[in-house]
Amino acid sequence: MQALVYHGPGQRAWEEVPDPALEQPTDAIVRIDASTICGTDLHILKGDVPEVAPGTILGHEAVGTVVEIGSAVTTLEVGDRVLVSCITSCGRCRFCKERRYGMCTGGGGWIFGHLIDGLQAEYARVPFADTSVYKVPEGLSDEQVLFLADILPTAYEVGILAGRVEPGDTVAIVGAGPIGLAAIMTAKLYTPAHIVAIDLDASRLEQARAFGADVTIDNGNEDAVAAVMALTDGLGADVAIEAVGVPETFELCTELIRPGGRVANVGVHGHPATLHLETLWIRDVTITTGLVDTFTTPQLLKLIAEGRLDPTPFATHRFALSDAMAAYDTFGDAARTHALKVVLEATPVAGEPAERDEALVTV
Ligand SMILES: [Zn+2]
Ligand SMILES: [Zn+2]
Repeated sequence: MQALVYHGPGQRAWEEVPDPALEQPTDAIVRIDASTICGTDLHILKGDVPEVAPGTILGHEAVGTVVEIGSAVTTLEVGDRVLVSCITSCGRCRFCKERRYGMCTGGGGWIFGHLIDGLQAEYARVPFADTSVYKVPEGLSDEQVLFLADILPTAYEVGILAGRVEPGDTVAIVGAGPIGLAAIMTAKLYTPAHIVAIDLDASRLEQARAFGADVTIDNGNEDAVAAVMALTDGLGADVAIEAVGVPETFELCTELIRPGGRVANVGVHGHPATLHLETLWIRDVTITTGLVDTFTTPQLLKLIAEGRLDPTPFATHRFALSDAMAAYDTFGDAARTHALKVVLEATPVAGEPAERDEALVTV
């Protein structure tokens, strides 16, 4: 098969690799129908994630079709369409039993495109298949559910839920990239009074408005703290969500919140930030961090199936899976291309969609 392979910092190639095979009775083999590229993949290519070994297939977000199951897999059948999420769950360890799958100590957690071969490939081996994939409800397209593989549960769990957004809150979201926009989209589930988007890029702020932010602040030209204070009677935002991952934006979040407010850090940081305890200690603030657990994926899937949530606006560019190299160029140059998420679509095999529909009816 062919796949997008990491060959060390700055080096990637779409190339021929061995087909994946079942290794454990709990594995499944999935044919990838749609995949996408994440900002984390760009971090890996920069060399920021050194535990990724050269030779690893990248990617941790996909929708696919089960083509083979191990002898211990009981809830999946060949032909099932499944969402393969960025987080794998062994289903048995202490953290999996607490629904904190991101912290799995039984061999799961974030493993695709990190510790094992990933999902930007024609086929993938999916460990712990029973407890890790989600069947796609009938009638939903690959693109409708693809972004549940990472950005939506990440923004929702680590941003909105960890920040305990409540109806009537003013929510400040620092960073209007895909994660910030997913935070805007899922914050709306809680009917905040204001969703304030803060970014340096005018086109991203425009996208933030389209996704539902009612106040946008260009903090290259405007004083974001003063603007949020003016909006909140001088108190500050109830919740500030950090969706960039640099020290400046984290520190800005701690300046934007009201006494008793919550800072939810979602961004992936590579450098230390300064925690101004000399001003924060008396303000009763809560600061949370985290990796997504994906325990809300079934809930989000239900909202999509019922038409209450539509993540398809994230798909700004589409490529054939075999054009993954060009897709990386487009996604990596988002400042110029305005890419949010690029969808990698496997070329449909002639005659297959009808067969697939039939299989779904009988399941
Ligand atoms: Zn990701
Ligand atoms: Zn586990």
